[in-house]
Amino acid sequence: MVKVKLKHLKPNEDGVVVVKSSTKNKHRFISFLSYEKALIHVREGSCRVIDDHTVEKFRSNKQMKKYIKKRDNYTCHYCGGYGDTIDHKTPKSKGGCSTPFNLVCSCAKCNEDKGDMDYEEFMKTKCLVVV
Ligand SMILES: [Zn+2]
Repeated sequence: MVKVKLKHLKPNEDGVVVVKSSTKNKHRFISFLSYEKALIHVREGSCRVIDDHTVEKFRSNKQMKKYIKKRDNYTCHYCGGYGDTIDHKTPKSKGGCSTPFNLVCSCAKCNEDKGDMDYEEFMKTKCLVVV
């Protein structure tokens, strides 16, 4: 297979990039991302470029969650307790993507407390907590 470089990736005539994904049972489907988001996904390690207008997801959403929890050893990134949820360091509403770079294992409480806050903002509130 020819390795296509990130610099070759460009939006198609509709201005988007095609994303090929497959679920655990090999069901294949496609979705679309803006060019800017597609670049982030490739840079942050959740997709690879397969041709000029197409990227492929390495993992389904379910596999990604499993991967992050295992990578972080089921430990909450924020408080160090047991974590079994996945949190976006930069919230999706603020442009964060579901990439290994932006996802961390989190306990339900920290996940809820953090909500829509930015990572830096939330970490500041964590530092102020007196134990
Ligand atoms: Zn926590």
